[in-house]
Amino acid sequence: MTEAATLEAEARLLAIHFADIAGMSRVKVVPTRRAASTARNGVGWSSVWAVVTVDDHFAFVPPFDSPSGDVRLLPDLDAAVVLPVRPGWAWAPASLWTQELEPWSACPRHALARVERRLAELGLEVRTTFETELTLFHAGGGPASSGVGYSVRSLLGYDEFALDLAEALDAVGIPVDQLHPEYGAGQFELSTPPTTPLAAADRVLLFRYVTRVVARRHGLDVSFAPATSVGAVGNGCHLHVSLWRDGVNLMAGGDGPGGLQPEGASLIAGIRDVLPALSAVVTPSVASYLRTRPGHWSGAYTAWGVENREAALRFQPGTITTRATSANVELKIVDGAANPYLALAATLVAGLDGVARGADPGPPLQLDPGVLDADALAAHGVARLPTSLGEAAEAFAASTVLRDGLGELMHAAITAVRRKEHADHGAKGEEELVELHRFVY
Ligand code: GLU
Ligand code: MG
Repeated sequence: MTEAATLEAEARLLAIHFADIAGMSRVKVVPTRRAASTARNGVGWSSVWAVVTVDDHFAFVPPFDSPSGDVRLLPDLDAAVVLPVRPGWAWAPASLWTQELEPWSACPRHALARVERRLAELGLEVRTTFETELTLFHAGGGPASSGVGYSVRSLLGYDEFALDLAEALDAVGIPVDQLHPEYGAGQFELSTPPTTPLAAADRVLLFRYVTRVVARRHGLDVSFAPATSVGAVGNGCHLHVSLWRDGVNLMAGGDGPGGLQPEGASLIAGIRDVLPALSAVVTPSVASYLRTRPGHWSGAYTAWGVENREAALRFQPGTITTRATSANVELKIVDGAANPYLALAATLVAGLDGVARGADPGPPLQLDPGVLDADALAAHGVARLPTSLGEAAEAFAASTVLRDGLGELMHAAITAVRRKEHADHGAKGEEELVELHRFVY
């Protein structure tokens, strides 16, 4: 927690960040001398922004079809930090509240906080982190490396940026676990250790901000978009989740496949069972479907498998020495267009539904589903995930698990945004889609 007095003493301006349903980071700024009062009373925000789309249009469907209505944006000072990388500036994530200061039901951060409270009521805990892939471009130019996967030569193209980034992240309380050049041209990956759901989602916003600031100093621009060049591998934002009870990781030490305990297995089954609908939240842009293709390690099928990189759910039992703490399931389809609060909230809602039902994920798929024909896929109970946002949007609209878990208004807002983005951009060609999404997130 950073006290308002510390913010005021150490910074002049407070950047209040939040993520909308389109997946963009938005910001309002107040002087730090107003931090304490803004944390109590908020700053105004039109409620129509609940249905903003990726290109700043609005999905004007009821009840989001009126210019009237205002909500309050309240920075959460418990999560605020001073930004040594941007002297004079501090940062805080925000939630949206009604003018009566009730949590607003179309606020993604509140949706996740509700799920976190539900977990606590059930005596459960989730440890989670997003693993970020991004593409570095020379500002105004092409990718910052040739893209030989994991190549030393690629890293040498931007190793000073990597060093400054690690330092800047450390200074804002984001520990770096690992970083490396990824497979694509200019592609870079950075992972951080697991934490609580709300902290993990907040971290995505802060991480992106700090990364952009550091990149700019090195003459670089950053894309977190799912597809950054025509035909290239995409950027994932894989979500890692483990479920705990009484300090014990339920993804390890059991008799299930890979050592899963029954509740850990049910969590996976619950997520697996809603994958087509969940796609509308975790692969939420039209461009997301340029990425989730068979053979691209982005998990294009409704399968779960042990260390299977072509399954949407890759269970990672971990090394024998660290299994009890590190075993987790990775939702591979998630990308950087996803609102991190909603991605986590929807995934956990589905997982908890599986736990409540005692759902059985069945045997893990260890094959590449891309080599199976339709009959073999059906025999394994596996299907191709939606191949367009339109398909995902309709699966989401029909999902009672996600509607009940996220709430009526949130479900309506997500459905409206997804349908409009599909209607507006679904027929565009790959090049146009890449251009439209490259630098927005
Ligand atoms: N870039 C791949 C994706 O789009 C992931 C590669 C990996 O397994 O790290 O998700
Ligand atoms: Mg990767």
